[in-house]
Amino acid sequence: LEDLRAVDPEIASLIEKEVDRQNDHIELIASENWTSKAVMSAMGSPLTNKYAEGLPGKRYYGGCYVVDEVEKIAIERAKELFHCDYANVQPHSGAQANLAVQFALLKPGDTIMGMNLNQGGHLTHGSSANISGTYFNVIPYGVDENGVLDYEEMYRLAVEHKPKLIIAGASAYCRTIDFKKFREAADACGAVLMVDMAHIAGLVAAGVHPSPFPYADVVTTTTHKTLRGPRGGLILWNQEAQDKYKFNKAVFPGIQGGPLEHVVAAKAVCFKEALSPEFVTYGQNVVKNAKALCKGLMDRGIKIVSGGTDNHLMLVDLTNFGLTGKEVEAWLDDAHITANKNTIPNEQQSPFVTSGIRLGTPAVTTRGMNEEDMDQIAEAISIVIKNKGEKNDEARAIIAKLTAKYPLK
Ligand code: PLP
Repeated sequence: LEDLRAVDPEIASLIEKEVDRQNDHIELIASENWTSKAVMSAMGSPLTNKYAEGLPGKRYYGGCYVVDEVEKIAIERAKELFHCDYANVQPHSGAQANLAVQFALLKPGDTIMGMNLNQGGHLTHGSSANISGTYFNVIPYGVDENGVLDYEEMYRLAVEHKPKLIIAGASAYCRTIDFKKFREAADACGAVLMVDMAHIAGLVAAGVHPSPFPYADVVTTTTHKTLRGPRGGLILWNQEAQDKYKFNKAVFPGIQGGPLEHVVAAKAVCFKEALSPEFVTYGQNVVKNAKALCKGLMDRGIKIVSGGTDNHLMLVDLTNFGLTGKEVEAWLDDAHITANKNTIPNEQQSPFVTSGIRLGTPAVTTRGMNEEDMDQIAEAISIVIKNKGEKNDEARAIIAKLTAKYPLK
C-alpha cells in the first residue's frame, strides 16, 4: 500500500484496519469469500483507465484492441465453465444482471414470479422495495412449513397467474433447487425461466449443485460469492434464447454505460481458477463444512431451518431461545464471528429484527478450515447464543485460536 499511503494515509490505514478485521474474525456471511491475490491484481490494474462501451470488436471507443482480448477470454471461459453458448461478462453486479434480463424480457405492468424475500428470495426478484417490484406485477412463491420450496404451490400459482417470467434462485435457501420443476411450471404457463444462481454459482462450477442448464432460458449470477471472483455480475444463455432475446443490448446501452474492464479481467482470472481441479475440491469442502457446522449446531440444541443443508449455507432459527437475529448478530460480532440476521419461514419479527441468523462456509473453506474447525465454530456460536452474549470472551478465545491457525495469506 506504499503508493496509497503516500497520497492518502487516511484511506490506507482504513484498508489496513479492514484487513486486520478480516484476519481476526471468522467470516460466516454466506455471500462473502476471500478472493485470490491474482484476482485482486487484475482488479487493481490500469485496465480501469479504459472506456470500452460496446462488445469486443464492436466498440464505441478507439484503443480497445487489448481489452477486447481480455473480454473475449472472459466470455470464452465463462461459457466453458458453465457449459453454455453465450455469456455477457459486463454487468457491474448481480442486481444489474437481473435488471438487464428483466429489461430484455418485460414491459412495465407485466406479471413475474419470484421467491418471496421473507422466505429466502432476493430483492431483485420482485420485492416492493426494488424496481422489479415497482414496475412489474409480482406473484411471490415460497417455502412450506418445513422451510422447503413448495414446488406444487409455485406450479399452481404459475398456471393461475400466467407470469411472463419465472425467477428461480435465492439468497437464503439451504436445499438443492430442482430446476426441472421450475421448467415444468414455466412450460405450463408459457413463461421464460430465469435462474439467478448467484449464491450457488461456485457450487455449480464445482459440480456439487446441479446446473440450471438445460432447464433455464437465461441464467444470472454474481461472481463474488461461492464463485470467489471480483464483485460483479454475469449473464449466460444458449442459442435458443439468443434467437429470441437481446440480452447483450439490454446490458449496454440498456442499463449500463462503459464496462469495468479491470473487473472483466478479474472475472477471467476467477473463471480460470474455477476451471481448475482444486476448485472442485474447494466446492466439495464448502458443502462438507456447511454440513459439519450444521451438525455441530444441531448437536448443541440449536434449531436449523429445514433440519440441515445441501449447500453452503444454513438458517439458524432462534425462536426457541426467544432471541432475535439482530441481537445475536451483534453478540457474534463482539465474539469475532461475522454473520447476518435473516428472516426465517413464518417470521414474526420485522426484517430489521428477524428471528434468524444466516451462516455460510465459503470464506472459512477458502481460508483452509475443515470439519473439525466447524465444530469449534459451532461451540463458539453455541456459547454466544446460550449465554445471551454474556460469555463472548470464551467464544472469542476459540475464534482467536482458529484465526491464528489460519492466517490471512
Ligand atoms: N441475486 C442473489 C440471489 C443474491 O443473493 C444477490 C446478492 O446478495 C444478488 C442477486 C445481488 O448481487 P449484487 O449485490 O452484486 O448486486
